Amino acid sequence: MNLKDLNIKKIHNSFLNKEYSCTDLINNYFEKINEINSDYNIYTSLNKENALNQAKIIDEKIAKGEVLRKLDGIPFSVKDSICTLECKSQAGSNILKGFEATYNATAVEKLINEGAILIGKTNCDSFGHGSSTKNSDYGITKNPYSLDHVAGGSSGGAAASVALNTCTFAIGEDTGGSIREPASFCGIYGLKPSYGRVSRYGAIAYGSSLDTIGPLANNMLDIEIVQKIIEGLDEKDATTIEDKKIIELENKTVKKIGIIKEFLDNGLDLRIRDLFDKKLEEYETNGFEIQEFHLPSTKYAVASYYLIACSETSSNLSRFDGVKFGFRAPNVTKLEDMYLQTKEYGFSFETKKRIILGTYALSAGYADKYYKKACSARSLIKQELEDILKEVDFILTPTSPVLPYEINPIKEIDPMTEYLADIYTVIPSLAGVCSLNVPIGFVEKLPVGMQIIGGVLDENKVMEFAKILG
Ligand code: GLN
Repeated sequence: MNLKDLNIKKIHNSFLNKEYSCTDLINNYFEKINEINSDYNIYTSLNKENALNQAKIIDEKIAKGEVLRKLDGIPFSVKDSICTLECKSQAGSNILKGFEATYNATAVEKLINEGAILIGKTNCDSFGHGSSTKNSDYGITKNPYSLDHVAGGSSGGAAASVALNTCTFAIGEDTGGSIREPASFCGIYGLKPSYGRVSRYGAIAYGSSLDTIGPLANNMLDIEIVQKIIEGLDEKDATTIEDKKIIELENKTVKKIGIIKEFLDNGLDLRIRDLFDKKLEEYETNGFEIQEFHLPSTKYAVASYYLIACSETSSNLSRFDGVKFGFRAPNVTKLEDMYLQTKEYGFSFETKKRIILGTYALSAGYADKYYKKACSARSLIKQELEDILKEVDFILTPTSPVLPYEINPIKEIDPMTEYLADIYTVIPSLAGVCSLNVPIGFVEKLPVGMQIIGGVLDENKVMEFAKILG
């Protein structure tokens, strides 16, 4: 079986034409996982027995000639920071080592209700804190195109699971780029839906006003199928947006593309810029109108994103204290020691740094200076981005200004470099709009991605556009 060119439609056709069974498919994916997981470090827990049991049910259904649901027998992976009944949900963190959730996240539940089969949970930076999986307590996920480079982060395992053909699609979580950047580093598609379009219920929260759940896949058709299943109003997440509003906004035509001048100046790898410019030329030849814009608030984006994300994470992560979930420090007699030692061991260095930063930014006397200021900058960014989106259908940017980071145990990836490289992805996150990574080529044999930014609830339009681009 060639796992490389599979997609949902092809798999269903093969099931119906009896070219292979669902059990064969699952066995093939697990063979592939066995072969490569120790090298690439993609999965943090696997679901083989349950997956094979479910495959048997699907095979019986096919044998009886029953109609298939949209995802019957389609194997998928889920990021470790999203709760699933099967497998562990550890958020890439020691503090949740061995944690088993008692429910499925809404997005996962919807996929399972359509017959999808969970293959396993994928590695990520602990609690989504990072861009390379170097902050995972379970090790770095390697790039599918080079074992010496990272797969990206924080949903690095999700992107690699798809790019290395160990499942048909993946579910990731994106707070400031965690679906798009690893999708770009691994040469696949990844959609960050508008804030509120997919329920966050069951996502282990990083930054609640920014977190989104979305799909990663090898092709746009699968992204579209999965997105349409997982989106929608959910009574368990009050921030989900009414479907009514979505219909009103969807019927617009595709013509104008905006690019942002500030994005193409400092810090962008010239080889990525070259590839991006060539793509723009191609689109222009194909009849798209390209217009340049300024987004002066770009300079505030990374700082305000990290202030807001760290502030929210410092609050969200206070629940991990050794009492309610997961790990508890052993052999302590005093309550305070239990808290201290649990958090000291259970949280990664990066997570502790972010909790301290966020607590400081929210503390009395400093909240106005830091947190509230960051919120004002966020409003400005949102306004400026929306103003551009009133004049064009989409904004195109490179997804990352840098190539996948080299894994070098001696020279650590510099944290400042990593934060700054989030510049293009944090802006749509702060504005709550949707954006999608599409692969556009290679530099030094490493994948490069382009980001399509659309307005709030413009997912359909963005997906259609990506399909036109091919
Ligand atoms: N790299 C960004 C961060 O570390 C984004 C992470 C994410 O989207 N979860 O915050």
